[in-house]
Amino acid sequence: MRYPERLLKLIRALSGLPGVGPKSAQKLGLHLVQQKDAAKELLQALEAAQSLHTCPVCGNLAEEELCPICTDPDRDRQMICVVEGINDLMALERSGEYNGLYHVLGGALNPLEGVGPEQLNLASFFKRLNSGNREALGAEVREVILATSMTVEGEATAGYLAEQLAQRGIAATRLAYGLPVGGSLEYADEVTLARALENRRRLAE
Ligand code: ZN
Repeated sequence: MRYPERLLKLIRALSGLPGVGPKSAQKLGLHLVQQKDAAKELLQALEAAQSLHTCPVCGNLAEEELCPICTDPDRDRQMICVVEGINDLMALERSGEYNGLYHVLGGALNPLEGVGPEQLNLASFFKRLNSGNREALGAEVREVILATSMTVEGEATAGYLAEQLAQRGIAATRLAYGLPVGGSLEYADEVTLARALENRRRLAE
C-alpha cells in the first residue's frame, strides 16, 4: 500500500535521528499524527530548545549566558572534568559522584580525520587555566580530571592534555579502568562511572 506523502516525510525525518531505526521511526510517526496533543507539545519543546547555545566557558548547553553548572555556587570550582561530548557530561552527572566543573571538547584528537587541537574546544580551556582568568573562575584550578573515552583517540587526547597541564603545574588525573575499553562514557552505568571517578589515578607530571 502507499502511505500518505506527509507521513512518509515525517518518518524519513525521524529515521534520520540518532538511535532511531526504521521501525521506531514508523511507530513514532504514526503516534505523532494520531496524538495531536503529544505532537503539539513536542513541537513547542523543539522550538524552545532552538534558543539553547553553547556555554562560552565550558562548552555545555546553556539558556542563560552561562550554563547552569558554571553558575552553580555549590560546585567545586577548583576541579574541571574534561569530556568529549555533552552526552558524557550527562552520564557523569547521573552518577551523582562529581561536583566540580566541566569542559566539553566537542570530540577527540584524530589526526587521520584531520582533528587536531585547533579543531577542539581548547582555546577556552587554556584560557580557564591561565592565571588571569582564575579570578573569573572564582578559584585556582587544583585538579583536572581527563574523562575522555577509552578509545585510541580518547587516550591520545588525554595524553596531550596531561602534557599541557604538566607544563602549567596543574594536577591531571585519569578515570580508572573498569570503563568499557573502546567505548564512550555515555554507555557506562552510574555505578561503574562512580567507581571510575573515585579510583581516578594521578598522571605523572
Ligand atoms: Zn558552562
